[in-house]
Amino acid sequence: MKRFKGKGVYGAIAVGAVSVYKRQNTDVRRTHIEDTAAEIARVEEAKAMAVEQLSEIYEKALKEVGETHAQIFEIHMMMLEDDDYNESIRSIIETQSVNAEYAVAVTSDNFSDMFASMDDAYMQARAADVKDISDRLIACLSGDSGETSDSGGSMIVCADDLAPSETVSLDKERVLAFVTAFGSSNSHTAILARNMNIPAVIGAGEGFLDEIKDGMKLIVDGHTGELILDPDDDTEKAYLDKQQADARKKALLQELKGKPNVTKDGRQIKIFANIGGVDGIGAVLANDAGGIGLFRSEFLYLESEDFPTEEQQFAAYKKVLESMAGKKVIIRTLDIGADKQIDYFGLEKEDNPALGLRAIRICLTRPEIFRTQLRALYRASVFGELGIMFPMITSVSEVQRCLDACEEVKKELTAEGIPFSKNVELGIMIETPAAAVISDLLAPLVDFFSVGTNDLTQYTLACDRQNARLESFVDTHHEAVLRLIELSAKNAHANGAWIGICGELAADTSLTETFLRMGIDELSVSAPFVLPLREAVRNTNLSGK
Ligand code: PEP
Ligand code: MG
Repeated sequence: MKRFKGKGVYGAIAVGAVSVYKRQNTDVRRTHIEDTAAEIARVEEAKAMAVEQLSEIYEKALKEVGETHAQIFEIHMMMLEDDDYNESIRSIIETQSVNAEYAVAVTSDNFSDMFASMDDAYMQARAADVKDISDRLIACLSGDSGETSDSGGSMIVCADDLAPSETVSLDKERVLAFVTAFGSSNSHTAILARNMNIPAVIGAGEGFLDEIKDGMKLIVDGHTGELILDPDDDTEKAYLDKQQADARKKALLQELKGKPNVTKDGRQIKIFANIGGVDGIGAVLANDAGGIGLFRSEFLYLESEDFPTEEQQFAAYKKVLESMAGKKVIIRTLDIGADKQIDYFGLEKEDNPALGLRAIRICLTRPEIFRTQLRALYRASVFGELGIMFPMITSVSEVQRCLDACEEVKKELTAEGIPFSKNVELGIMIETPAAAVISDLLAPLVDFFSVGTNDLTQYTLACDRQNARLESFVDTHHEAVLRLIELSAKNAHANGAWIGICGELAADTSLTETFLRMGIDELSVSAPFVLPLREAVRNTNLSGK
C-alpha cells in the first residue's frame, strides 16, 4: 500500500483499477524534403482534419460541460488558424527544407515555452493548449486517428497530464476518476473535471507515475487529494464506507429540496448560490438555491479575447435573469486585477497587485468600461429581479461615484427610450476593513451589503490569499474578521439595508449559528453547498442561549 497526495479538484471518492493513459506516439523525426510546397499543402490538409475532430469534441463538450467550458475547443480551432503559428510552421518548412511534422513540433515547443514563461498563471496554462493542438496536428499528419486505446470496463485514468481535449474525450460512463501527475488547478483540465462531475486529483507527482501499472487497485479521494495505491483490505473498506456515506448524504440532502431555510425556532435566512458564468445556472437550479448572490461578471471578460461588448454582456445577464425566473440575481461589476489579470486591459505590472489597481478602482478610472457594463445590466434588468453590487469599496466617495455612474446610465437609457427596471437594488461588497469600519456611513447609501470574506480576511489579517505558504497564519475564524462582519450587520440593519455573505466563509457550517445570531440575512455559496447549508440552518436552534 502506498500513499500519494495531489490536489482534489472534484470532491468524490472512487475505488477502482488503474488505466494508464496511452497516447499516440507523437515523437517526431526530422527529415529532409525537396518539395516544400507539397509539404505545406500537407499541413493544410491535416489542419482541416484537426478542425473537424475539434468540432466533434466541441459538440461533445457542449453536451457534457456546457457552453462556457466547451469554448476552449473553439479557441483551439482558432489557435490552429493563428497567423503567427502558421507562419512559423511555413517558414521552418521553407527555410530548412524539413518535414511538416518537425516544423509543427518545433513551433509547438517555441510557442508553449513562450506561454510557460509568462508571469500570469492563466497564460502559463495556455502552454498546454498549444501542445494539445500541435499534437493533434502531428497525429493528423502521420495519419493517426488521434484516438487512444484502453482496456475496456470501468477504470481510473492516470496520466502525466491530460489536455483539455483528452479530458473531454474520456468516456464519462466508464471513467471512475482521473489522476494526473502534473497540471495546475488553473488549467482547463481541472475546470472541466469539476464540471464533468468526475472525481479527480491533479498534481500527484512524478513518483506516482513511476509506481502505477494497468489494473492496480487505486483509491482516489477527490475531497482531500489523497491517493492510495494497492490499499489493504481495511483501508479499502474504510473508503468504500466513506463512499457510501457520501451517497447517503447526497440522497438525504435531496430530500431538503423545496424545504425552507428555517431554524428550529423559526428564524429564516436566504441561501443563494455563486456563479461565474451563464452555464452555472443549471447547478444553481438543481441545488434549489433561492437566487444568485454573486455572479462574478469578470469571467465574461476572462473568457473573451477582447472587451465583451454591451450586446454580449446584455445577452449573458438577460439569460441569467430569465433563467432564474423572478428569483433575485446579484451581479457584481467587474472585479479584475490582483489574481485575475487580462492582457487586453493593458494593466501595468504592480509590486502589490492585491493592493493595486483592481476591481472598482479600474471601473472608476476607466469609465467607458464601467458605462458599457452598467448599460448592459440596466437593459437586462427588465427580465428579472436584478441587484448590482460593487467590489472592493473603501470609501463613501467611491460609493457615491458608483451611484452617480448608475444615474448617468439611467438618464442615457431614458433619453434613448430603452426600458429598465426601477427596482434594481444597489449594494456594495464589504471586502476591506475600511468598508466594515465605516459601514455606518456606507449603509445609508445602498440597499444591501455583501461580505466578501475571502478578501476581507486577506486585508484584515494582511495575508495574501494567493500565497500558499501563509496558510498557517490565516485563521479564517479570526475574531477581527468576525467582529467586522458583526459591525457591518449592525450598521446595515440600523440604516434599513440588508446584509449577505458571499465569500467562502458563508459555506462554513461551523459558523452558521454565529452568522444567524449576527442577523445575516443571506448566505451565498457554491451551488453544491446550498443543501448542506440548508441542513445546518434547519438543525440550528437560536432560542434559549
Ligand atoms: C470575496 O472576496 O470574498 C469574494 C466573494 O470575491 P472574490 O473571491 O471573487 O474576490
Ligand atoms: Mg473579493
